[in-house]
Amino acid sequence: MDATLKNTVALVTGASSGIGAATARRLAAEGAAVALVARRGDRLDELAATIGDSALVVQADVTARDQAVGAVDRTIERFGRLDTVVNNAGIMLLGPALDASLDDWDRMVALNVQGLLYVTRAALPHLVRAAADSPRGVADLVNISSTAGRVARPGSSVYNLTKTGLVAFSDAVRQELIGQRVRVSVVEPGTVDTELTDHLGDGIREAAQRQTSSIEAMRPEDVADAIAYIVTRERRVAVNEMLVRAGDQT
Ligand code: NDP
Repeated sequence: MDATLKNTVALVTGASSGIGAATARRLAAEGAAVALVARRGDRLDELAATIGDSALVVQADVTARDQAVGAVDRTIERFGRLDTVVNNAGIMLLGPALDASLDDWDRMVALNVQGLLYVTRAALPHLVRAAADSPRGVADLVNISSTAGRVARPGSSVYNLTKTGLVAFSDAVRQELIGQRVRVSVVEPGTVDTELTDHLGDGIREAAQRQTSSIEAMRPEDVADAIAYIVTRERRVAVNEMLVRAGDQT
């Protein structure tokens, strides 16, 4: 594989499982040093061991503002720069609004929105700097939305809210940063086989699994491929948005 991202540094949130872990592995294979951010340090250690010295484990809860900022700071301390940020950490808690748990809603907003904002705000000045002094002449912010960022469904209202909101946020920031050569992209995966549905309550989890049981889910590596495609483009190309559904998904 070409080391297109050689001498660059990436930070991936939610790197302890699923899409984030696959993305971290893939960016490392493309030559990037990678900061692995999530709460489960043991899982990050295991992943880092497979990547080697170019991986940095940063155990952090990005819903805590100081920890999100600290994750970016530690990446800069260790590697001196930051070229690629993948805001991937997210949670999906489904159920009808009528009797929804406000705690569930708080958790989704705290991670899918606020956590993403904290990491983004801390990272942006570093991305601008990296774009200015890198031979590639570009830096990337990739935010992971969902098909739920495009299509609202019953039972998914607040997940829809968070994933739709980040599409609008990303596009506004994208336009602001064009002159600084920081690309801002959104990836909207369809059904991917990860731990995402493990957090659903009994009953809702089974219903969600039944809904997708007739299709072959994507693998986390399929989404990592999409992300790698985006961040390895030459500076003249900007993939603003990528919707990647499972092949059988309507
Ligand atoms: P996983 O549940 O496998 O991964 C979620 C990741 O987020 C984990 O690494 C988890 O690590 C991390 N995370 C959770 N809470 C926090 C926190 N407070 N601070 C830091 N990290 C946290 O799910 P996926 O890989 O599927 O999800 C990744 C993204 O993809 C999410 O944004 C999701 O909405 C999106 N997505 C997923 C789809 C799917 O079908 N799987 C479809 C469309 C979008 P830890 O618990 O160690 O902190």
